[in-house]
Amino acid sequence: MRVVVVGAGVMGAWTALWLRRAGHAVTLIDRHGPGNQLGSSGDESRITRSSHGPDRFYPVWQRRALAQWRELEHAAGERLFVQAGVVWLVSPGESFEAESLVSLTALGIPVEQWSHDQFAARVPVMRPDGVPWALFEPEAGALFARPAVSATIRQFEAVGGEVVVGRVEPPRAAGSGGSGGGGPGGLDEVQLDNGRRLAADAFVFACGPWLPDLFPALLGDLIVPHRQDVMQFAVPAGDGRYGADAMPVWIDFGGSFYGFPSFDGVGLKACPDWLGPIERPDDSAREVAQSSIEASRAVLRKRFPALGAQPVVKSWTCFYEVTPDAHFVIDRHPGFGNAWIAGGGTGHAFKHGPVIGEYLAALVTGNASTIAELGPADGRFALHAREARQGFRTSGRNPLEDAPG
Ligand SMILES: Cc1cc2nc3c(=O)[nH]c(=O)nc-3n(C[C@H](O)[C@H](O)[C@H](O)COP(=O)(O)OP(=O)(O)OC[C@H]3O[C@@H](n4cnc5c(N)ncnc54)[C@H](O)[C@@H]3O)c2cc1C
Repeated sequence: MRVVVVGAGVMGAWTALWLRRAGHAVTLIDRHGPGNQLGSSGDESRITRSSHGPDRFYPVWQRRALAQWRELEHAAGERLFVQAGVVWLVSPGESFEAESLVSLTALGIPVEQWSHDQFAARVPVMRPDGVPWALFEPEAGALFARPAVSATIRQFEAVGGEVVVGRVEPPRAAGSGGSGGGGPGGLDEVQLDNGRRLAADAFVFACGPWLPDLFPALLGDLIVPHRQDVMQFAVPAGDGRYGADAMPVWIDFGGSFYGFPSFDGVGLKACPDWLGPIERPDDSAREVAQSSIEASRAVLRKRFPALGAQPVVKSWTCFYEVTPDAHFVIDRHPGFGNAWIAGGGTGHAFKHGPVIGEYLAALVTGNASTIAELGPADGRFALHAREARQGFRTSGRNPLEDAPG
């Protein structure tokens, strides 16, 4: 089978790799090139953690995916993951961590419950004020996102995959000007902005926050791009307390904040998790709002007092591609029988990249046993209108911002 995969972020790269491993002829196309920094996967670091409250589906995917990331790391011969652990700072009245504790224990995934005093002793550089207890995932940590996607694409090329740089135009139905193997109701080919056409038997569109631009009628309401501001703050020179061997990745779920240790000895990441402004990626000025920097500084003053006035050493923006219920979209296009859509990462898809690719490759090729093994029983990834679900990873708003006026 010949397959064209559009989008070389984490979803497209892993789908292409799995399809190529299964012996198919695969072309991976990206408008900004493989391993680019403009897609959602192009950031420096991403959290991989098992906790998902009462949900027991995502933790299983995450553990499987982490094993595959580690295999990739071994094959690539470079550091792609740091097992720094992830600590969840419980807010009074928040049930997410207690539910996660029950789920992970039932699934046999290592997890620890720390009292307030244990948290203070285990992570002495963080102030524990207002944290009654903490949940710690010792086997979780940080993935180096852009290098990990680049390594995935290098593996894909090493096994004979083809990479093309170019922007794919919104696809047109078979019989509307193209020719090829899509058949009735299928897609024959895609066309690039330079006029080049690529025919295939099957197509995958994994275009991150650009998906609604390609399929506005289908995805305009289902996947909404929110600009997220990302910042790293300078750590005092030579102070080893902020390194990954001294402190874990941390998530304040109730407070909608998260952060990473300093991996390079220079910068500690601290970012809001609430949804930023809705912007089309191509129209976005990609400028970090001053209010986001101030909000991060306020959190640093509370948790890491020595960093409250430190300079921002790095800042950039990327996009949460948000679905109403925070579940991804992995499904066949309703109008093109041989085209598949993968996206809607909603701020938590990176870690699952290898398994998203494995599952999607199985859907494309009709591999029934893998579909049965990996597919969700509740149809959560289907392309249909969804009910909004509050409080899942993307709750909250910047308290420093004025109400929209
Ligand atoms: C600030 C932030 C923090 C996050 N934190 C985490 C985290 O801690 N853990 C986690 O698991 N997830 C996290 N996520 C979510 C995760 O990063 C994303 O869900 C995931 O990277 C999305 O990958 P993707 O492949 O769907 O999209 P992308 O990475 O955006 O890839 C899409 C690709 O498609 C290409 N493309 C688009 N249109 C076209 C076209 N017409 N023709 C050709 N190519 C095209 C683009 O150039 C791009 O390279 C976070 C996201 C953000 C923004």
